[in-house]
Amino acid sequence: MRLRASRENMIKYQLIARGITDENVLKAFLKVPRHKFVPEEIGHLAYNDSPLSIGEGQTISQPYIVALMMQILELKNSDKVLEIGTGSGYQTALLAEIVEIVYTVERINSLIRDAEDLLNGMGYKNIHYKYGDGTLGWKDGIPTQNEFDKIIVAAAAPDIPESLTGQLAMNGKLIIPTGNRTFQQLVVITRTEEGYIHTNEGGCTFVPLIGDEGWQE
Ligand code: SAH
Repeated sequence: MRLRASRENMIKYQLIARGITDENVLKAFLKVPRHKFVPEEIGHLAYNDSPLSIGEGQTISQPYIVALMMQILELKNSDKVLEIGTGSGYQTALLAEIVEIVYTVERINSLIRDAEDLLNGMGYKNIHYKYGDGTLGWKDGIPTQNEFDKIIVAAAAPDIPESLTGQLAMNGKLIIPTGNRTFQQLVVITRTEEGYIHTNEGGCTFVPLIGDEGWQE
């Protein structure tokens, strides 16, 4: 009960108070137990208004930034979503609550194995996992056309990876923090018949996206 109350407070003061209105997003945040996705010893900090360390030099993002990115994507029930940077698996669970199918990629093996175990244990059946370089997207033939309605990148890139824009379905949206290693802009790219449209949704700070079309270590 106390944990549910912590989640309700997180939603009220960190999300709704800052303009998150998407009902699907708010419902998912109420349902997913964030404390299960952080190391046990910092479980009491799970509902704080901040990112937290999850080991391997990586972080679980601040709740608000995750909610904001999900709201901007206008997620629909029928969406096929690609997530780059599984990390703890928290955002993966939130996505899996809303959309039909989630494909998630992580470059640190121990993180994706732990996330997969945890999410399987919680009963999620609509998630596909891949250990590898997510700057290249999902190239293994699943889904057959490698086309995603939405792509969400949870790490910061120096430029927009072309492999990712190339895997967007028509009218699909990609959201990705882009900039230098310490500060980035949240960039949204929408694929239209006339080409790709870019919009800027404001400043943010993420851990680096490391890979072929990201930072080199
Ligand atoms: N969404 C996560 C946040 C993870 S932080 C959560 O809710 O916990 C970003 C993650 O991106 C890190 O785990 C990092 O290892 C991963 N990452 C960085 N570069 C990557 C790449 N090229 N491909 C896949 N994952 C990558």
